[in-house]
Amino acid sequence: MPEPLAPRDLLALDRQHVWHPYGPMPGTATPLLVESASGVRLRLAEPAEGQDELVDGMSSWWSAVHGYNHPVLNDAARGQLERMSHVMFGGLTHEPGVRLAKRLVDITPEPLQHVFLADSGSVSVEVAVKMCLQYWRSVGKPAKQRLLTWRGGYHGDTWQPMSVCDPEGGMHELWQGVLPRQIFADTPPAGFDAPPDEAYAAHLRELIGRHADELAAVIVEPVVQGAGGMSFHSPGYLRVLREACDAHGVLLVLDEIATGFGRTGALFAAEHADIAPDVMCVGKALTGGYLTLAATLCTTAVAEGISRGELPVLAHGPTFMGNPLAAAVADASIGLLLSQDWAREVRRIESGLTEALAPAGELPGVRDVRVLGAIGVVQLDHPVDLAAATRAALREGVWLRPFRDLIYTMPPYITGDDDVARIGAAVCAAAREG
Ligand SMILES: *Cc1c(COP(=O)(O)O)cnc(C)c1O
Repeated sequence: MPEPLAPRDLLALDRQHVWHPYGPMPGTATPLLVESASGVRLRLAEPAEGQDELVDGMSSWWSAVHGYNHPVLNDAARGQLERMSHVMFGGLTHEPGVRLAKRLVDITPEPLQHVFLADSGSVSVEVAVKMCLQYWRSVGKPAKQRLLTWRGGYHGDTWQPMSVCDPEGGMHELWQGVLPRQIFADTPPAGFDAPPDEAYAAHLRELIGRHADELAAVIVEPVVQGAGGMSFHSPGYLRVLREACDAHGVLLVLDEIATGFGRTGALFAAEHADIAPDVMCVGKALTGGYLTLAATLCTTAVAEGISRGELPVLAHGPTFMGNPLAAAVADASIGLLLSQDWAREVRRIESGLTEALAPAGELPGVRDVRVLGAIGVVQLDHPVDLAAATRAALREGVWLRPFRDLIYTMPPYITGDDDVARIGAAVCAAAREG
């Protein structure tokens, strides 16, 4: 074992050498040093705002649905580690990869039959886009190369995903003229329960019809737009997209990377609309937050179309494709989810958050408070003061990571009622001081 480094030295090295998400180099803000995590608690190497343990309100970017250090997932990882942590997927296969693929086919909408195991959410979106473009090329319509999405979305940080992220807010302005130019519909009207707006539905139909000749696919996040703004919309718009895509010969890609595995109250958000996409991406909670893994699923029609082309293969194959360690943990994580009444836990968190966030609605500077499934959001009428909001949450003993004008939580499903209340109080405190 190497000599342990003192927290002060670690943080100095971190600042000097290590990029953090969307961070400057050298670093300017000091991250909290986490020593270990268990259940819903993060243990800090040094106290912050007097706390050496924090209730996790983020599920590590929505992935750790079962909490940390879970015995079932630990066993799966350990068991697989003793067999092999990785072998290449080209020319070789293994039980964890096959089991996971079969499991994903079984639990996702019925027409999705084929699985590409990718190494992160962004890569799974790249693969989804490649599938769609290659499909149209193979069936003799190579002009169908563009994508349509609605504003307010987020699909990852690599190239194709960036081109369908919300165009307002940095990435697009910086990369104008470099990113592929996609077609944007307006942001969907807000509200999961709001009756679908007919004028907006007509707008979607009109755009898809007008661009059908050049459109390979429509790609959206179903029901919840996550990192693009934590907003909820009516499942009715997904039915509109499904019908318009069918009518005009356009593929429909649903990015369920944030919404999959129960977060919105349905196992997959497409179920709220009772539709099936042609291509679907899952990631984030796939391994219960243990390891990086994502998957792109497609229908037999898409797979067969690709196979009919002049290049009859899907030309993609990451080095760590199908990583057995990640696949074994993912299979165990899905098994663990399905072995319990997860929907009841999500509903319990939904009512806990609804109650705990209600006081935020009375605060000055708060524009909106919304809850869906195990997602609670307070939207301010100004950009959040990240440092002040984080400090306010830390004082309540809770870890939150607000962004833009949003203070939100996506707690692990195992979060008990008292901790849900505590997270809610921290969100309110952050909204007051941020
Ligand atoms: C997080 C996210 C991605 C990107 O996944 P990474 O694993 O971060 O590459 C893509 N789409 C959605 C909807 C996401 O929430």
